[in-house]
Amino acid sequence: MNYKIAVIPGDGIGREVVAQAINVLKVVGEKFGHNFDLIEVDAGGCAIDKYGEPLPAQTLEVCKNSDSVLLGAVGGPKWDTLPGNQRPEQALLGLRKGLGLFANLRPAVLHNALIDASPLKPEIIGDGLDIMVVRELTGGIYFGDRRRDGDAAFDTMKYSIQEVDRIARVGFEIAMKRGKKLTSVDKANILDSSRLWREVIEKVAKEYPEVEVNHMYVDNAAMQLVKNPKQFDVIVTGNMFGDILSDEASMITGSIGMLPSASLGTEKLGMYEPVHGSAPDIAGQDKANPIAMIISAAMMLRYSFDMEEEAQSIEKAVTNVLDKGYRTGDIMSDGMKLVGTKEMGDLIMKEI
Ligand code: NAD
Repeated sequence: MNYKIAVIPGDGIGREVVAQAINVLKVVGEKFGHNFDLIEVDAGGCAIDKYGEPLPAQTLEVCKNSDSVLLGAVGGPKWDTLPGNQRPEQALLGLRKGLGLFANLRPAVLHNALIDASPLKPEIIGDGLDIMVVRELTGGIYFGDRRRDGDAAFDTMKYSIQEVDRIARVGFEIAMKRGKKLTSVDKANILDSSRLWREVIEKVAKEYPEVEVNHMYVDNAAMQLVKNPKQFDVIVTGNMFGDILSDEASMITGSIGMLPSASLGTEKLGMYEPVHGSAPDIAGQDKANPIAMIISAAMMLRYSFDMEEEAQSIEKAVTNVLDKGYRTGDIMSDGMKLVGTKEMGDLIMKEI
């Protein structure tokens, strides 16, 4: 079967890490007999330079007509002085909106080989830390009414039943594919929008009797993540709480160069990208860690194409390369073998 993938390398290290993910996809395609049709398009700073706008209409059109989207990173100092609505990062918002993506998935997986990179003690993280944070992306306080009134200002947190229902279903579906445990995070002791959130989660839970559900207040969840992170499997939460908790959960794993993400909608089409940005300080120096991007490609195979075995072959290859002691600069430690972006990509490819 043919899979059409829109590829947006973007700016800075985005281009370098995307090149490695493409190589890995080609090897997976050959091994498992899939044809990945990769169409490269521009967004971000490079699109501003070429077309005068961060998200040209043809880029969005190609993405809409693809089975999935892979994105490197956008932005850089060259475009930092532009007004907010013309900056490269606008491309990300435009893509999410244009593609109807409302669920953000951020796995926080700690590889045993990198246990020393975590700020938490080994006895707390133990072995096999693997959390998935599912964050609602298009509602809540970031999108509610807001206003500055002289010396006061307000923002509004609003959620509808329909908005909570659809993100709940994403959370439950993912829990079914993982450890069948879901923690819904809210602030239902104070907020009406959280009480509605909890009500809807309870209702959807009835359709997933195999999933063990619990509710947690966000302040407690923030504490539990550092106290006993292994209690979590899937966390589902609103936009602002998810923004904060996903950063907290991911830092437990050490380096930003290891963190993938996915943004999903109601269809199979998703956008897959590393959590990090374009890293202007190391761009063009073959220093970037390509693993976040490569694992993002694995997520694409799993969530957009239902290729579990193929996704695992990539994840396993990454684990093996780390177990053999290869490290990029960001995850380097004593006695390990330092490699560049390209060599890390090649090692993972060979392992597959
Ligand atoms: P950044 O993530 O680009 O870099 C932060 C630090 O982490 C830097 O020291 C960088 O060298 C390091 N780093 C990041 N990714 C790495 C990797 N793969 N391997 C090794 N080290 C890595 O964040 P920033 O410096 O705040 O932002 C730089 C630019 O990227 C800005 O223009 C920002 O707006 C943009 N940005 C884009 C995205 C995106 O495209 N999704 C996300 C965040 C920031």
